[in-house]
Amino acid sequence: MKKILLLLFVSMSFAVLAQDWRSGTTYLDENKWTEFLVGNMPLVITVPHGGYTNPLELPDRDCRELAGNAKFVTATDTRTVELAKAIDSVFKRDYGCRPYLVICHLRRKKIDQNREIDIATCGNEEMKKVWYTWHNWADTAIALATKKYGQTMYIDLHAHGHTDQRLELGYTLTTEELQAVQEGAENTSLIDKVSIRNFFKQNPKKVSLKEMLSGKNSFGTWMAESGFRSIPSADEPVPYAGDKYFNGGYNVRRYTMLPNVIGWQIETNNKGVRDSEENYYAFAEAFVKNIMRFITTYTKINASKIGK
Ligand SMILES: [Zn+2]
Repeated sequence: MKKILLLLFVSMSFAVLAQDWRSGTTYLDENKWTEFLVGNMPLVITVPHGGYTNPLELPDRDCRELAGNAKFVTATDTRTVELAKAIDSVFKRDYGCRPYLVICHLRRKKIDQNREIDIATCGNEEMKKVWYTWHNWADTAIALATKKYGQTMYIDLHAHGHTDQRLELGYTLTTEELQAVQEGAENTSLIDKVSIRNFFKQNPKKVSLKEMLSGKNSFGTWMAESGFRSIPSADEPVPYAGDKYFNGGYNVRRYTMLPNVIGWQIETNNKGVRDSEENYYAFAEAFVKNIMRFITTYTKINASKIGK
């Protein structure tokens, strides 16, 4: 069985790479429901919940019983597509390169591109095709980026409506696990579970999990220093009891399991990030600066090859 799966994976990878995907080209499906920008740097950003397209002929998702109340959500992540496009513009302007972007333009009422297929589509056959298109393009983006650069960063970009105006960085660890890390836990089960597990496969300088999540040189701390409060970070390493915090969903779990992918989920707050065009750009500039710093500090990617 394992052999068959491996063969399937290998042949799928060849299929993905066989097509001539041109950097700088945007691909759309026939209905313009899914968008794929082929980038030329080791960063893949997916935007599953920012869509505004609401075709009346498509039924609204209605399968709460499949998901359980807590996980069945139909709210749009407002202005996350705009945020991803601002990030692309800043990369182009400041570094002459572009990230890979995979965007769902359909409203989340029609499809949830951050869930496994049954809950995502509520069994609608047409939506199942859309689900496969979106995830095939995310797989393609990651395959192209890792083939070219050896490793890639992966970010699943969202928006939260929680009261605390801060970025929630989801590394697929629970609040209890973040707390354990603060108390010195560095065991293999946490390293195996965290969405930056592939970083720890090399880690020649023996940076600890605690330092990677909330040390002075962690992504969250750098974003906080750039004016965007983040959890986890040095000042806010663990959510307080009762704080709402998204720790990462289907996409970040699925895509950071792939070899050579290092990533996390970013849940953006509204105030100062998504509430004006000026603020999209302020966030984008901080994100671009700090993700580049992460790439050069913590990956084996040759930064001089980026954009080539
Ligand atoms: Zn979301």
